[in-house]
Order: sequence, then C-alpha cells, then structure tokens
Amino acid sequence: PPLHRQRHHYVIDFVKRNKPLKVVDLGCGECSLLKRLKFHREIELLVGVDINGAKVKKHMHGLAPLSTDYLQPSYDQLRIELYQGSVTQKDVRLRGFDLVTCVELIEHLTLVDVEGFSEVVFGYMTPVTVIVSTPNSEFNCLLPGLTGFRHSDHKFEWTRAEFQAWALKVCLDYSYEVEFTGVGEAPPGQQQSVGYCTQIGVFQRLRERDGCNMLCGDDTEELFSYTLLYTVNY
Ligand code: SAM
Repeated sequence: PPLHRQRHHYVIDFVKRNKPLKVVDLGCGECSLLKRLKFHREIELLVGVDINGAKVKKHMHGLAPLSTDYLQPSYDQLRIELYQGSVTQKDVRLRGFDLVTCVELIEHLTLVDVEGFSEVVFGYMTPVTVIVSTPNSEFNCLLPGLTGFRHSDHKFEWTRAEFQAWALKVCLDYSYEVEFTGVGEAPPGQQQSVGYCTQIGVFQRLRERDGCNMLCGDDTEELFSYTLLYTVNY
C-alpha cells in the first residue's frame, strides 16, 4: 500500500490494540485518518484540528453518519468535532485526551513553532499517548529524482538522530517516554543504514507528574483559541 495509507494503518492498528476513548488528530487536513477512525466505535470523541480551515471544510462532509449508521442502534455514542486552529496555540477543549496523532505535521512547522507545539501538546494537552510521524531524511537517497525536501512546504526533514534528540528532550521536559518505529521499509540489506521512510515516535505519559497535572493550567487568554467548524453526534 502507499505510504500515507501505511501511516494511517499504523495509527488504526494502535487504536485497535489500545482502545482510546478520546482521540484528536492534529493537522487533520483532508480528514482521511478521521474518516477511517470513525469506524472504530470504542472511540467516544474524535476531534480534528488543522490550521487550514478551508481544506477541512472541503472534506469534512464525509464524516457525517451514513444511513446505515442509524440502522445499527447497538453502536456506542460517537461525537466528532473539527476545529480550525494552530497546534502552537492552546485550547482547553483539547485537554484530557487518550491519544493525539500528528501524522506528517511537524515538518511543516518552523523550528521555533516545533518548540511551541511541544509545549502545547506535551505540556498543556498532556494526553496519555502521542504518535508523531515525520520523514526520515536518511531515506531520501533511495527516493529517485529527489533533490531537496520531499515537499516544498517542508521546513526541515530530520535524520533519525535529529528526531530522536527532539523526542528525548520532550520526554525529559514533559515527563513522557518514547519508542521509535516507522513505516516504509528500505530494500533488503539497507534497512539498518537508512531506516524507515517515515519515522514514528510513540510517546507515553509517565504516571508521576511531580504533582502537576492537567489541572494546573493558567493560560486563561488562550483557552478558546480554536474555531469550531463542524460537529456531529452519532
Ligand atoms: N495528517 C494528514 C495526513 O496524514 O494526511 C495531513 C498531513 S499534511 C502533509 C500537513 C497538514 O498540517 C496540512 O493539512 C496543514 O494545513 C497542517 N498544518 C500545518 N501547520 C499547522 C499548524 N500550525 N497547526 C495545525 N495544522 C497545521
């Protein structure tokens, strides 16, 4: 399957295994991951956020219930909410989630904004799990005809060491632990030297947070910084 499907499949597989109740997809774009997640009906609240409200509005209608959804009354309740907003801004409605996914998002941020993103996601939203995917630049030598970045809007593409250095600092700063994996394998014999095409970090919040958890937030001016675009109840 194409790489974007493999990335989404990785998330779906995680959801099947871990059964999070509240899930938010940051940088949800065309809502394609949300459209797959809505079939995993252990989820009670499914939220998407993207800075590009026009893009979300163009694709969000595929999230509406199908007539068959109403023929399955045994289904649990599901609520979907979509917001226009930036992952560098705090919004109180995004706190207390079980899973936050950031699929091919961070490389679209400046390094300064990556710092803001880290603080918002790991320091303020404090979800149980965060899944972050981003290109592995060491794999680029295997992509034919590629000069420069994989996409013109990328602000950076990190090696495995660069991604891991950022991730480990996040863990120290905000009390998480991380495991690294990826999707998109190199041809036999080259996997070790170049790694996966897409690198993935799976962050888990540590239980002890020095007595400081989600209840000590104080950023009152920023509490409702996102704009609600769409909401539906199943
Ligand atoms: N996650 C989707 C996927 O896997 O197909 C879309 C990835 S797309 C490459 C990156 C998305 O991040 C775009 O939809 C873009 O609008 C969004 N984005 C960029 N900067 C953002 C920011 N500061 N806050 C929220 N979303 C942002």
